[in-house]
Amino acid sequence: MTILFNDQLISRDEARVDVEDRGYQFGDGVYEVIRVYGGHPFCFGEHLDRLERSAREIRMQLPYPREKTELLLLQLIEANQLKDGYLYVQITRGAAPRDHAFPSKSEPVLTAYAVESQRPTDLMKNGIRAITQEDIRWLRCDIKSLNLLGAVLAKQAAVDAGAQEAILHRNGTVTEGSATNVFIVKDGTLWTHPANHLILHGITRAVTLKLAEKEGIPVREEAFSLEDLRSADEVFITSTTKEIVPVVEVDGVPVGTGQPGLVTRKLQQAFEQRIGVTV
Ligand code: PMP
Repeated sequence: MTILFNDQLISRDEARVDVEDRGYQFGDGVYEVIRVYGGHPFCFGEHLDRLERSAREIRMQLPYPREKTELLLLQLIEANQLKDGYLYVQITRGAAPRDHAFPSKSEPVLTAYAVESQRPTDLMKNGIRAITQEDIRWLRCDIKSLNLLGAVLAKQAAVDAGAQEAILHRNGTVTEGSATNVFIVKDGTLWTHPANHLILHGITRAVTLKLAEKEGIPVREEAFSLEDLRSADEVFITSTTKEIVPVVEVDGVPVGTGQPGLVTRKLQQAFEQRIGVTV
């Protein structure tokens, strides 16, 4: 497997991460997951914008100018002959003697690799079960940082309960999923949490909102409650790797009819058109 280590394409076995890398010790870094369809990165510009923003928000310099990062990631796709899958890209503040404060001297470390994977068509068709969980994460969920323990614990709670996603809430207000954005449909209107500091500004969320607008579906980017979630006609989640997946059960109770809803289906079809997949 050929990976990207800083600006070098090397074999995975050759990569060497320092024990004092700040990503390893503090989660001091940022990352992106970029979908690749037919060998082409999807929403490449949006992902790079978000990577730049995340880095800026943690006061970290990215190692290369944007054009160079872009080129390196395209070379990574090429080197792995990746057709359908995704790129994982992370940049840490680099290695330095362990101290919480920023080191005066450290070079950011970029690692990226390609993963082949198919669209989760079964989940898209049949939906998933979700549980609700208190959102115990920090207050800068808009930064795509390497600190993912809150998400890890929530997702594991879902798996332990035989579900596929945890829908998070702060004092009864739904924020997002452990690794997805959450939407509900109520009386034909689409609701999702506003893109503020409490959620990741999902690229798939933004694409979905644009598609909804095009389809003439009324949208409200407003917070909604656990009760709204429980009484919703439809619930779905979005992410780069999952696209749009219906949630058919929340905490063991069916959502609406217990089947993926019509608005969700319409948006899934619009999404497939957008990525150029024929069904
Ligand atoms: N929220 C969280 C917490 C996530 O981790 C992710 C994806 N990793 C998302 C939302 C979805 O974002 P995107 O559509 O950009 O993948």
